Amino acid sequence: DFQYPHTFVLLGASGDLAKKKIYPTIWYLYRDNLLPKNTKFIGYARTKQTLEDVKEKSKKYIKVRPGDESKLKEFWEANDYVSGSYDKRVDYEFLNQHISKSEKGPVANRIFYLAVPPTVFEDVTVNIRNACVSIKGYTRVIIEKPFGRDDESSEKLSSHLAGLFKEEQIYRIDHYLGKEMVQNLMTIRFANQIFSPSWNRENIASILISFKEPFGTEGRGGYFDSFGIVRDVMQNHLLQILSLVAMEKPVTLNPNDIRDEKVKVLRHIKPIDLKNLLVGQYVGNPNGQGEEKLGYLDDPTVPKDSVTPTYAVAVIYIDNSRWQGVPFILRCGKALNERKAEVRVQYKDVPGDIFEGHTKRNELVIRVQPGEALYLKLMSKSPGMKFDLMETELDLTYSMRYREADVPDAYERLILDVFTGTQMHFVRNDELKEAWRIFTPVLKKLETERIKPLPYMYGSRGPREADAKLAESDFKYSGSYKWQKPSLD
Ligand code: NAP
Ligand code: NAP
Repeated sequence: DFQYPHTFVLLGASGDLAKKKIYPTIWYLYRDNLLPKNTKFIGYARTKQTLEDVKEKSKKYIKVRPGDESKLKEFWEANDYVSGSYDKRVDYEFLNQHISKSEKGPVANRIFYLAVPPTVFEDVTVNIRNACVSIKGYTRVIIEKPFGRDDESSEKLSSHLAGLFKEEQIYRIDHYLGKEMVQNLMTIRFANQIFSPSWNRENIASILISFKEPFGTEGRGGYFDSFGIVRDVMQNHLLQILSLVAMEKPVTLNPNDIRDEKVKVLRHIKPIDLKNLLVGQYVGNPNGQGEEKLGYLDDPTVPKDSVTPTYAVAVIYIDNSRWQGVPFILRCGKALNERKAEVRVQYKDVPGDIFEGHTKRNELVIRVQPGEALYLKLMSKSPGMKFDLMETELDLTYSMRYREADVPDAYERLILDVFTGTQMHFVRNDELKEAWRIFTPVLKKLETERIKPLPYMYGSRGPREADAKLAESDFKYSGSYKWQKPSLD
């Protein structure tokens, strides 16, 4: 297909996501010659502006290396901007004519990226369907979260989309699925005999999946407040990671075989009980600097009495024969002490101890960000005459081991996948439905009962009660592990 004309239409081209993420991403793909040669890009939004304006707004987010200047010029020459409404068919007919101009030949494909607020999803998709589908090639639609805010609204959106496009045409982005180490989970699990046989309730005590962000809402809490961290991070990104960590081996690497297994594991999860969910909300640190002084409720766009969680820990159980009784702990928060996303697979204590209680648990840590790494904590004899045990690790830190490797950004991979028609790293309709089934009841409960989140200080590790929750979920922390950064030479 790569020899034919392609058009990439970015709806909401005047917006935040467009300038910060999508324009830079399509430029990197273009620069690296990864896209079909004959690809045109069209930005579309209501704002009356020129391509020059689009260029100017995205300028500071686009990295240009010395020597790339002429390629960049070529890239912008392949771009266009069309202004139009989201709800009027005639504007889309005009857009359609515009796209058609560069579609010489028997085949031409179109991709529509919806970088618009969810309030206009329905109008936009109906109009694309009515006026802009390709008549001589594929039409694919990329959509961004939020995919609804509960089971009902998500179902409504899904059936709306299903009435317009086939599932093979719909690409629901969960950008965590584009991250290197998330994509590596299947390889680690299914290509290593040392892990496969121990990946179960007989050997694993608990699994902790964390997402930590070191900043708060920074005065832009309006949108966040109607969602909260559970919807914004846990129900989508963390649950996606959970399903890749826990699923059975797929029949093949075919995207639908993989997604079948992801759905299956979700179906073994009961809706979360309130007693298995802990929620927090950050407060300002009076001794902090700048933003750190401000709590969530100090954000002027947030209602003064908001009970929206900015931190959450959920303990999830998968009732199948592999995982029965093993706590999967999902944990996420804003305004914490660090930026980090990782998976910790904590193995059980060694039975039949002969080391007088000195052994510590094995832990496989898969660090998604920052700085991809995979390390396995294990016990070893301390080198030398003594017969002491020590905690150490087998360490595969990408920056040290693969110094030349260029790990692509999540969006780059995902957008390229849409061009090649690979749906492996996109969320299927039924996965989404299961995710909402698991989370909707407890979200409703939080809201109707106005459950007060536990306060935690900006810049801390989260509410104190969270560590107790981890401890009662069989995640052990001893504080005795000391990591020594290896020297580079
Ligand atoms: P945005 O800047 O608020 O909106 C994008 C464009 O949509 C705006 O430039 C505006 O263009 C139009 N628009 C805004 N509000 C509208 C309204 N009420 N009615 C009709 N059109 C409106 O949004 P964004 O941050 O780029 O996000 C776009 C989509 O990506 C959303 O679904 C969002 O949830 C999702 N998302 C964003 C991010 C991010 O980092 N920003 C991350 C993950 C997901 P015109 O007025 O010119 O038409
Ligand atoms: P660790 O020191 O045993 O800590 C494990 C995790 O427990 C911490 O990350 C911390 O994360 C959490 N924790 C801290 N206090 C706790 C408490 N009171 N109760 C429960 N949990 C608590 O091991 P580590 O974090 O894996 O390694 C230590 C340091 O070495 C880290 O900075 C790590 O990045 C570094 N290291 C790097 C590499 C590498 O680059 N390849 C390899 C090994 C280690 P939360 O705040 O998220 O809870």
